[in-house]
Amino acid sequence: MNKELFISEVEKLGIKVTQDKLNKLNRYYELLVEWNEKINLTAITDKEEVYLKHFYDSLTLIKAYDLNNNIKVCDIGTGAGFPGIVLKIFFDNIDITLVDALNKRINFLNIVIDELKLDKIHAIHERAETFAKKHIEEFDLVTSRAVAKLNILNELSIPILKINGYFIPMKANIEEELKKSQNSLKVLNSTLEKIITFNLPKENSIRNLIVINKNSKTSDKYPRNFDKIKKNPL
Ligand code: SAH
Repeated sequence: MNKELFISEVEKLGIKVTQDKLNKLNRYYELLVEWNEKINLTAITDKEEVYLKHFYDSLTLIKAYDLNNNIKVCDIGTGAGFPGIVLKIFFDNIDITLVDALNKRINFLNIVIDELKLDKIHAIHERAETFAKKHIEEFDLVTSRAVAKLNILNELSIPILKINGYFIPMKANIEEELKKSQNSLKVLNSTLEKIITFNLPKENSIRNLIVINKNSKTSDKYPRNFDKIKKNPL
């Protein structure tokens, strides 16, 4: 999507676009492309595609959750910073933790954080299962885009939510996974409140925001030791 379409679509999401935010996104894009030559960050490098499939797509989380408050957010498996860095650029007030198992990506994120002078943002090099054990009930909102199957993600994300917090994974295809995740939601005392389905502008591919609410405390059994479930594609 070109710059004009990006601005108008982001404004349709109810998000204010300022020149400062556009400058930050532009610098982020430059760093992404530059570093992508040295370390594998993204398969998408065309500018209009990055603005649509990474930048705009990351901001669609606002369809499911109001990010205008001083909340604590965690992005599991953030990769090159999606959706976490983009959310931070547009919502200064949030305190966000980005987690990824690949150190090279975390180093890249720290360069972006420095260059863009972002604050209240923490890039952590850790596997989600280790991170989760140390951060029980810390976050108001946990998100994760294109990382793992829902039953696995639930186990890693719901324990770190405060009671009544929300886990909102962002996914393209979900049908099969949804069925297989029913039991994990039950044992983690959480409910699937709704699924917000929409199409990306321009190319119309499908997106889903799965809105999961943590109803009460998670049993001490979770997150489980991952030896037991490591056959899953995480
Ligand atoms: N969320 C980003 C990246 C998706 S790729 C985006 O939408 O573009 C999946 C990312 O999850 C990779 O960066 C990978 O390193 C990370 N990842 C995979 N398993 C993980 C684990 N167990 N703990 C933490 N990060 C993990």
